[in-house]
Amino acid sequence: MPVSDKHRIQTRELDTPPRLLLGPGPSNAHPRVLRALSNRQVGHLDPAFIELMNEVQTLLRYAWQTDNQVTIPVSGTGSAAMEAAVVNTVQPGDSVLVGCNGYFGERMVDMASRYGANVTRMEAPWGTAFDLETIRANMEACRPQVLGLVHAETSTGARQPLDGVRELCDEFDCLLLIDTVTSLGGVELLLDEWGVDAAYSGTQKCLSCPPGLGPLTLGSRVIERLNQRTTKVPNWYLDMSLVGKYWGSERTYHHTAPINMNYALREALRLIAEEGLEARWERHRRNAQLLWDGLAEMGLSCHVDASIRLPSLTTVRVPDGVDPGAVSRTLLSEYNIEIAGGLGELAGKVWRVGLMGFNSRPENVTLLLAALKDVLNR
Ligand SMILES: *Cc1c(COP(=O)(O)O)cnc(C)c1O
Repeated sequence: MPVSDKHRIQTRELDTPPRLLLGPGPSNAHPRVLRALSNRQVGHLDPAFIELMNEVQTLLRYAWQTDNQVTIPVSGTGSAAMEAAVVNTVQPGDSVLVGCNGYFGERMVDMASRYGANVTRMEAPWGTAFDLETIRANMEACRPQVLGLVHAETSTGARQPLDGVRELCDEFDCLLLIDTVTSLGGVELLLDEWGVDAAYSGTQKCLSCPPGLGPLTLGSRVIERLNQRTTKVPNWYLDMSLVGKYWGSERTYHHTAPINMNYALREALRLIAEEGLEARWERHRRNAQLLWDGLAEMGLSCHVDASIRLPSLTTVRVPDGVDPGAVSRTLLSEYNIEIAGGLGELAGKVWRVGLMGFNSRPENVTLLLAALKDVLNR
């Protein structure tokens, strides 16, 4: 058989367009993160890498404000970390209550159902959050072993307040699992103070790192339950009783960590430690306010009430008679700016604008507002 040249296409060296990524993710990586990514490799059990693994775990604990021993980057995007959080927390037959006020709550429902949980959906309109009375009423009805909430719902731009949720969970002897993909490194997060048992995130949002790793943290209540399991965690790749041995003191091989992505994450976390969490949260708030003021001046309104509006992701209502897709396409083709449209209940009704990590800067807000004004005035 002669070698076929059918798939031997001639392509040019990669030259990507200079996009400003102001959508729901990925956001642009910080230049220092991209530089770190291109460092030469070491082996995944090299003493230099083991030192790096320790630093990444410690810096992740800072970013999340937790002392959880098991705090590691899962090899995979945010969804892999979500699945790891679910599969290591939920056991078949468990009653699991999930807040469904956006797209990612639905994803958590899907995952928990696939792993044999008895899932109850707690629903609310997209763009709102759950109050304690609603959560309590739902917990009384289904007596959950696990409560799943999305802290920063990227599909709606709403923040889920967590004050008082731990006390409720204690009352019902329930684990609290939260999605912090669009809040870690951008929005106030105090995991231990809030009594969160399990949380996950992704590198591509407010951490200013390319997609590829999914930070995960599991508290002692989850680890206890994990140790008492009588059946194996039904996902080999994401089983933290196995992966934990690689990231823990034993350093036994499980799978090869994505070496260079961990360089990138380390640099992203170093940037957070340098800036300081309070200053970083304040920067995100300030630049979001600049955006919200500018939108109001143009006569545009935000979908989410200011009291629970995320600084990292704003949903902007599309004015009557405007084709949201046409506006996004023009912003991309003429200004190299990416924003996104709405999902689910909000499809065709909003644009989603992200100001995440490195991208949360005044000049980006000014540029977007000017470009949006130009396109809308045509
Ligand atoms: C982006 C996102 C995810 C999924 O992360 P991927 O990196 O796309 O896998 C999960 N939850 C929320 C809230 C997100 O914004």
